[in-house]
Amino acid sequence: MTAALLDTFGRAATDLRVSLTDKCNLRCTYCMPAEGLPWLPAPELLTDDEIVRLVEVAVSLGVRTVRLTGGEPLVRPGLTGLVARLAPLVELSLTTNGLGLTRLAQPLAAAGLRRVNVSLDTLRPQRFLDLTRRDRWSEVVEGLAAAVAAGLAPVKVNTVLMRGVNDDEALELLDWCLERGYELRFIEQMPLDPQHSWDRAVMVTAEEILEQLSAHHTLTPAERGHAPAEVWLVDGGPARVGVVGSVTRPFCGSCDRIRLTADGQLRTCLFAREESDLRSALRAGATDAELAVRMQAAVRGKKAGHGINDPDFLQPSRPMSAIGG
Ligand code: SF4
Repeated sequence: MTAALLDTFGRAATDLRVSLTDKCNLRCTYCMPAEGLPWLPAPELLTDDEIVRLVEVAVSLGVRTVRLTGGEPLVRPGLTGLVARLAPLVELSLTTNGLGLTRLAQPLAAAGLRRVNVSLDTLRPQRFLDLTRRDRWSEVVEGLAAAVAAGLAPVKVNTVLMRGVNDDEALELLDWCLERGYELRFIEQMPLDPQHSWDRAVMVTAEEILEQLSAHHTLTPAERGHAPAEVWLVDGGPARVGVVGSVTRPFCGSCDRIRLTADGQLRTCLFAREESDLRSALRAGATDAELAVRMQAAVRGKKAGHGINDPDFLQPSRPMSAIGG
């Protein structure tokens, strides 16, 4: 089978991120206002049948892995059933805030989910409340343990460090994850907030994170592949830690990702300013071949990179919560 989702830089899209909803049960300060956002209208959201069909078309074009995202994917009704339909098609993973994992980890694993990334920016319940506007830290921690108990592996923790907010916890978070066998990923904060108030000065850089960690642990570079995270063995391994330096150490040159939004738009990049409307085509009766041609055309137009460091960079109008990680 030839990879048929090629861009003009020779990159093949083999990893599809599927946002299942723009809704979320947290209100992280860097992602959403306290009152939430105007949610996507329900009739515009893709149905399970539509998602499965679009994934099947993408698989016929060389996609091999799918990551389910949101908003918060665990709030989507009937998620386990959708996972059971997607798992035979691709290697399936999921990014979540962890709320609901104690209830869903087992059935999702039984349905075919393989791996999970859980967002956790602090080990302090009060700071969690300040950051997310919800007093639910312990549920996330219990959710992580439930993911391990369900056999999901690896269980990764995604952390965004912000200067003067939680940047004093980098080492604590690493040691906490090492003790529990979670693979920690630090992610540089990106300009994707709905308020467009991202400030490079507040972002904690990959360099700074590695400096903090190297003061207490020996870090040895490890194999990266196409993954967004640069990875290091900690104290000789096998434990690992990752840093996603999207802004200061971009990895767009080897990007293999495209995204499907919850309302059926194909985005070739997290920072894309154009989208390809697959939902309307699908609902207008397009054949699989016609949908495939649309996907290929969109990927052919993929830009070289995110352009965040370019003087003329413009943040996409769609917020992160409606794109997915
Ligand atoms: S910013 Fe865009 S091009 Fe770069 S790695 Fe992310 S999705 Fe790929």
